[in-house]
Amino acid sequence: MSSKDLKFNSKLIHAGHYEDQYGSATVPIYQTSTFAFESADHGAKCFSGESKGYIYTRIANPTVRALEQSIAELENGFDGIATSSGMGAVTTIYMALLGQGSHMVSTDAVYGPSRGVIEEHFSRFGVEASYVNTSNINEVIKAIKPNTKLLYLESPANPTMEITDIKECSRIAHEKGILVAVDNTFCSPYLQRPLNLGADISFHSMTKYINGHADIVGGIIIAKDETVYKKLRTLMINMGCCIDPHQAYLVIRGSKTLGIRIDRAQENAIKVAEFLEKHKKVEWVKYPGLKSHPQYELAIKQMDGPGSVISFELKGGLEAGKILMNNVKIAILAVSLGGVETLIQHPASMTHSKMLKESRIKAGITDGLVRYSVGIENIEDIIFDLDQALEKI
Ligand SMILES: *Cc1c(COP(=O)(O)O)cnc(C)c1O
Repeated sequence: MSSKDLKFNSKLIHAGHYEDQYGSATVPIYQTSTFAFESADHGAKCFSGESKGYIYTRIANPTVRALEQSIAELENGFDGIATSSGMGAVTTIYMALLGQGSHMVSTDAVYGPSRGVIEEHFSRFGVEASYVNTSNINEVIKAIKPNTKLLYLESPANPTMEITDIKECSRIAHEKGILVAVDNTFCSPYLQRPLNLGADISFHSMTKYINGHADIVGGIIIAKDETVYKKLRTLMINMGCCIDPHQAYLVIRGSKTLGIRIDRAQENAIKVAEFLEKHKKVEWVKYPGLKSHPQYELAIKQMDGPGSVISFELKGGLEAGKILMNNVKIAILAVSLGGVETLIQHPASMTHSKMLKESRIKAGITDGLVRYSVGIENIEDIIFDLDQALEKI
């Protein structure tokens, strides 16, 4: 039975299985920078591609390959490319697919640095981008130009939790020969598989759900076809943002429990969202698992679950938010998300502080918005913690 025929939680354990010469049950850590060739001829053949042997860890490494093949299988892609961080994945995609005179259309409420790197750096090399609310298809259509090369989506968007219709956006982009890349970090392959919805590239900050234990940074790109994969692979090798084998090993280990971690976090998140929505000190809650979410129906259709990140605003805006953040005792006041521990942060002064205020407000990231990533602690403790901190306002 091939691992391709297995259900998701079984795939997490068996996909991309590494055949070890000693029968090791887990993937060994190949902590080496270089690999010996059998002969001068063999070395030449490894370089020409005639032989499959490993050459040098920046190019490929057995531990890293096991991780890449496993996640690629979970996403139903051709193959994967692991990177040193999520931003390594983002910049690899930009560098490989954009150039002088090209244009990109992107979700306005994307992860802050994904937008910052275009506006501060790629703009110097003649790359242009339009940031629109991609949850509105008409805005996507209007933003496309003759030189548009890439449609870059994040769904749910960060931190507004707006959902973009990946299938419809891919259909529109492909009519014009535009490639579609989706930042799938907020879902992980457990909850959403963009390539099955028509996208060409799905990518992650593995720092978040895939690893899930707040102990490494890493990224991965999965391409649907070989041509795009080769472009991205070559760029990553030449830019040098490869992942370290030990880091890759930790991600493999963390990823085994992805399904059960998300199930538990999601179960908690629904209860937290309902608690917040009813609380008299809360102005609004944005969570794809609540019927009040403007794209609740699309979320159900496109995702296998709402995830465990919740955005909300308190009555009293930022001042009230600060009291909450300073008084929680179980939730850690820290950026990042998708780990076993509950985290709380303030996007306007933290993850999205580099954005122009005007663009930030336009993208729906208000001054008082609080982002809460629900962990796998006991729900009674999480709610008790929020409740006592909200009391202080
Ligand atoms: C964290 C994050 C990134 C960047 O990943 P790093 O691993 O921190 O470099 C990109 N996109 C999203 C949605 C993220 O949450």
